[in-house]
Amino acid sequence: MSTHIKILKQVLQKYSSPMTLNYPSGVDKNRMYSQIPEGLRGFIERDEEKCVGCRACYMVCSGRATKIFDTAEKRTVQVFHFRCTYCAHCEECCPEEAIKMSKKFELTVTDKNDPKAYVNTDLKMISCKACNRPYLPEKMQKRVFERLSEKIDPKVKGIVVEDYHKTEGFCPDCKRARGVMLDTHTKKHVWLEVV
Ligand code: SF4
Ligand code: SF4
Repeated sequence: MSTHIKILKQVLQKYSSPMTLNYPSGVDKNRMYSQIPEGLRGFIERDEEKCVGCRACYMVCSGRATKIFDTAEKRTVQVFHFRCTYCAHCEECCPEEAIKMSKKFELTVTDKNDPKAYVNTDLKMISCKACNRPYLPEKMQKRVFERLSEKIDPKVKGIVVEDYHKTEGFCPDCKRARGVMLDTHTKKHVWLEVV
């Protein structure tokens, strides 16, 4: 067989079969995801157990994909996949390491309200015992106290913990308004360290 005929045969063979796969039925998802290189930044995944609703991911979100919705009952931390720019700032800043950039990149929906296009985490809110304003997720308050307890200088730990319990349940405004009355002014700790 001459070279020309061989080439012609190969070209005909190549173009007589489909050049693309039917999507999504023709795609082997396991194989597709196993071929993803390390370091690819796909959709974010949030660990609901770890998230405390601190809003740090919302503050740094470059694509304005993260939103926070507060009601009297709950705080919802939401990411809308189609606004996400995969910058990973939220993963870097999350103090609880609750966010991971997954390797998943495949998402097709015909309605932007489809739940598949969102990552939602709901957290129970607590309201101020003085003014009744919802101000913080319950989980976050507990975590702040745990972190505070780990970091406080042992010399002032007792008094800081005592002050914390005096103001527990008050929103920042009501705490500030009662600082003198409850003798919880932060300068007290500085003074205690000096003397
Ligand atoms: S704990 Fe992490 S995921 Fe949850 S709100 Fe804070 S930064 Fe965002
Ligand atoms: S990866 Fe970037 S754009 Fe996407 S949710 Fe996180 S901070 Fe926002």
